Amino acid sequence: MPKKYHIETKKVPRRLPSIGKFGIVDWREDCANCHNCAKKACIYERYRQEADYIKGLGDVKSLFFECNGCFSCVQKCTKGLLALTVNPVYENMGNSYFTPDIITTTWNQADTASIPVSGAGYRGKFSGTGFDGMWTDMSEIVRPTRDGIHGREYISTAVDIGRKPRVITFNEKGAPLDGLFPLVDIPIPLIIDKMPANYSFPNLLPIFADVAKQTGTMVIMDRKDYEALPAGKEQYLPHIIFHLENDKPLMSPEVMKKIRLVEINDGTDIEKRIRELKTLNPELVIIVRVELDANSEQRVIELAHEPFVEAIHIVADINGNQINVENPKFVKDMMRNIHTSRISKVIYFFFG
Ligand code: SF4
Ligand code: SF4
Repeated sequence: MPKKYHIETKKVPRRLPSIGKFGIVDWREDCANCHNCAKKACIYERYRQEADYIKGLGDVKSLFFECNGCFSCVQKCTKGLLALTVNPVYENMGNSYFTPDIITTTWNQADTASIPVSGAGYRGKFSGTGFDGMWTDMSEIVRPTRDGIHGREYISTAVDIGRKPRVITFNEKGAPLDGLFPLVDIPIPLIIDKMPANYSFPNLLPIFADVAKQTGTMVIMDRKDYEALPAGKEQYLPHIIFHLENDKPLMSPEVMKKIRLVEINDGTDIEKRIRELKTLNPELVIIVRVELDANSEQRVIELAHEPFVEAIHIVADINGNQINVENPKFVKDMMRNIHTSRISKVIYFFFG
């Protein structure tokens, strides 16, 4: 596969034991000391690893978090001494949206850096809530080795952020008559958002900046977060979207010239603010950040029709729901309403 389509990954050991779904309860009394104990047959070798785990007392629990629930030892024990149980710590993880299953699957994907595969497959027409009710057609992506009639086919995941003219008229020299709007393209449809205040981990910021640089995408940061990055932080500037608070000073003119995207909060004077930012760097694409509260669907539609708005970032809560609403709508349904309201310009949506 060509290098540009490939993100380098490598396996790294976990820093902390993950919380597994299953645990084995082992009633040792009445053990028949069989010659070939069923425990030796564990295909994941959990019992063989027991001594290693026990050496580091802090890790004893993790042995019981790493049973993969194959039932092999339970079924084969001649005296029926073993029982499989669901780990109560596992059942208490997360919330109604980030279920224990989603958290565990995400951990496993992070451990192995393998292709994300989760869920038990499609279960019928528009099944599930939230994003599970969304259909995507990615038949090529799940069959990446397919050779089409034109040879090996790759699917571009790149997205452009910014405005695109409906029609381009060229002069006799072949140059666009009215110029073109600034546009930022990123190779994957994913941007790392600011962490919500309650889930802020400053130690992760240099990692986010590095991930954004290595994958060619962007990370949203406040000025103070950028300033807290270690020496050499200028290398990350093309991959940072500064979130500029209305009442805070801007970055220095040198920094403003090196960045490609900034984000401002929605407000009454956004047109004036966008024009001010454009005077510092006309090539900047400016995103308007809109929190998805009770009135925001209509507000996003209004903004999308404003000629000075280039991109909109709609922000749901961490569960993908509308913010401060008793019976919140899910972000996917709100995006659909906005998109089907005859918006004719390119808008960029994501949530954080
Ligand atoms: S198979 Fe069961 S009864 Fe036999 S040694 Fe193992 S734990 Fe004991
Ligand atoms: S249930 Fe399977 S994975 Fe878990 S300890 Fe027994 S044999 Fe190993």
